[in-house]
Amino acid sequence: MPYQKSLLRCPCGEEIRGETEDLLVEKAQAHLAEQHEGRTYEREMILFMAT
Ligand SMILES: [Zn+2]
Repeated sequence: MPYQKSLLRCPCGEEIRGETEDLLVEKAQAHLAEQHEGRTYEREMILFMAT
């Protein structure tokens, strides 16, 4: 099983976790839609910033 990133620290201070990269991307996009209206990131960008 390849290593999957599971934590994204949003610039607003929020920590977003997902058990898999798919879930992390999903949660990050939901957080952006809720808290940062108008700001969206591509999957690649989210995973680039995640650890
Ligand atoms: Zn945020």
